[in-house]
Amino acid sequence: MLDRSARIVVANEASAVIFGFDLSRAEGLHLIEAVPNIELERRVEEALTGEASLGPLIVPGRMGNRTYALSAYPVTNRNDDIVGALVLAADQTEFVALDRARQDFLSNVSHELRTPLSSIKLMLETVLASPEEEAADLFLPQALAQVDRLTALVGQLLEQARTQAGQVTLDLREVDLEAIAAPIVASFEPQAAAKGVTLELQALRPVTVEADPDRLAQVFVNLVDNALRYTPPGGTVRVRLDADGADALLRVRDTGIGIPYKSLPHIFERFYVVDRSRARLTSGAGLGLSIVKQIVDAHGGSITAESTLGKGTTFTIRIPILRLRNA
Ligand code: ADP
Repeated sequence: MLDRSARIVVANEASAVIFGFDLSRAEGLHLIEAVPNIELERRVEEALTGEASLGPLIVPGRMGNRTYALSAYPVTNRNDDIVGALVLAADQTEFVALDRARQDFLSNVSHELRTPLSSIKLMLETVLASPEEEAADLFLPQALAQVDRLTALVGQLLEQARTQAGQVTLDLREVDLEAIAAPIVASFEPQAAAKGVTLELQALRPVTVEADPDRLAQVFVNLVDNALRYTPPGGTVRVRLDADGADALLRVRDTGIGIPYKSLPHIFERFYVVDRSRARLTSGAGLGLSIVKQIVDAHGGSITAESTLGKGTTFTIRIPILRLRNA
């Protein structure tokens, strides 16, 4: 609360924290001395001329900008003379960030869905308009591939929606890691061989964890698929299963193109792809690793990535061990 000449009458602790002034010396201080913020000053001046306002106020801080919903009201006495102004600030920072994430998400999803849809439409129109058989032979398989891609994407999106709504119901069982990893690694063999990449599974000891086998399989599929995709011919992709203290260690290491260190903190975010030129290597929408992380988190585990550009990438997952059988 400020008097008619914009000097502080009372201020609570939260306001001192928000605007960064010393509460013990605030009383009697002019607003500008306490808070050097032009927008705030302007709003208070308006309030002192009788105009109430409500609107956002951005306050720069050490931890980045914070956004407040700021209301400034004139304060009047019984005769309706303006005797001061009341300023209220409600912190909206998290809300603003969430809203931005929601908008980004929507525009990403729309883009990812629209791109294959328009190309399917174009191909089907071409087939319909063309009397020759070749057009159908050429475009229908391509259209089908795009439909598959869309189906996979919608599947990933549903998966995301379920995980985020906290509806991931893990079907927990005692699972032997090697029993999960071995068939998956085997299923990638042909792809690795075709590309000239060595694919290995090393089970250093038998480890049993309490996990959802299907979800865990999804984790291996995503990591091995990525590793193979980003490893040039002649390289190696190694899946290693081990234990470290109370944790099972699942490690997928490749000798591929690596991830720039600036991108590393973001790779587990939804829709994050490292760059467009790489995006050509993949049809992915940047959802794979975020799904992997959600699954690992749901199991009470953790995932880390280490990478050197041009040398390779290692993903390490830790999941609490249920039992460690002696080999
Ligand atoms: P997508 O589902 O599109 O593959 P991911 O979430 O799996 O996306 O991966 C995010 C980004 O991280 C990708 O754009 C890719 O460039 C990078 N990335 C993931 N795994 C590897 C890897 N093993 N080597 C190099 N880059 C990787």
